[in-house]
Amino acid sequence: MNAILVINSGSSSIKFSAFSVVSRSLEPIAHGLIEELYSRPHFEVKRHSGERIDDKRWPDGERLGHDKAIAFLLDWLRAHGGGATLLAVGHRIVHGGDAYREPVRVNAEVVERLAALIPLAPLHQPHNLAAIKAIAEAHPDLPQIACFDTAFHATQSPLTTHYALPPDITRRGVRRYGFHGLSYEYIARVLPDYDSRAASGKTVALHLGNGASMTAMADGKSVASSMGFTAVEGIPMGTRSGSLDPGVILWMIDEAKMDTRAIADLLYKRSGLLGVSGISSDMRTLLASDAPSAAEAVDLFCYRIARELGSLAAALGGLDAIVFTAGIGENAAPVRARVCERSAWLGVKLDPDANAKHGPRISAADSAIDVWVIPTNEERMIAQHTLDRLEL
Ligand code: ADP
Repeated sequence: MNAILVINSGSSSIKFSAFSVVSRSLEPIAHGLIEELYSRPHFEVKRHSGERIDDKRWPDGERLGHDKAIAFLLDWLRAHGGGATLLAVGHRIVHGGDAYREPVRVNAEVVERLAALIPLAPLHQPHNLAAIKAIAEAHPDLPQIACFDTAFHATQSPLTTHYALPPDITRRGVRRYGFHGLSYEYIARVLPDYDSRAASGKTVALHLGNGASMTAMADGKSVASSMGFTAVEGIPMGTRSGSLDPGVILWMIDEAKMDTRAIADLLYKRSGLLGVSGISSDMRTLLASDAPSAAEAVDLFCYRIARELGSLAAALGGLDAIVFTAGIGENAAPVRARVCERSAWLGVKLDPDANAKHGPRISAADSAIDVWVIPTNEERMIAQHTLDRLEL
């Protein structure tokens, strides 16, 4: 059997999925993660069916790190892979900059160019690259394919990506890029199976997970997105603030005497649903809570999403369909209901029973806008790109 491994390497965890390749079609086999790489490492792997295959903990305080975690994972796969041949590894890479508008096979030059983008995504890019480097050192002949969160948005126009800043800043790469591109690309690819009008028309996709963003698509191509230069812009998220008046940052520096590290920590880790509620970043917890601050956080989340929907509909010059996806989008019926209620002015009319059952179509028959719940699958998208770039 031939297999493809998909890796999503973050600051403290490495998530992975394995797919079998049978006559160029992909089947998910197993997925798992190694988390708390630098504090209490824990490895868990499950079959596609959800059944746990293995689980391992390292002693408290052991710092496994990215290199040793990757070595462990590849050894584990070799020992438990039933003699499968690993054809290639596909990576989720947050930033492709201007250079990479589509996935690319990794070599030393690509690694160097991606490392040069670290200042644009300092919280993610170094950890994405750490996994690539660890594999390249241990298995120099194993093909690795970099798949970018930014690439799907390469179709956006210069007008869309421009911040109103002087050219000397813009020239240094300070512009809107957009993220979650692998998720949106997956949605764009499967959308024709659900709704041909949405696939060829004006559609806004809402990726609402721990990270959350929204993308306007025309004919399946990205036209505008809520995330910009970094993945903190746009709507509020689990722990990220979303868009702020830049004056707030100046206030933090001048009046609150915060340094960049403290500000980054606040904006990325202590804001959003967690910051407003003071309870949790987890939508399930907030929806189950009676606390007024939990309701306030959910209300603000839905309000900002509805406002952004108006903005993206304006960017598209109309709206045919809305697609909800990712953890909250796929599962949180009350959030979808509130966003749709606030969007009634656009012609959105919800079917409450369909919404309670998570669709896939959740709009009423007489709704002017079709509303869908479509599960995303970034891992499959990466596996597909990886397979496409191999000469089999
Ligand atoms: P990530 O961005 O880390 O991939 P997910 O896409 O898994 O995250 O989304 C995580 C979010 O989805 C969390 O806020 C979680 O509470 C929410 N979520 C998952 N299942 C449900 C559910 N049944 N009801 C409400 N929210 C849910």
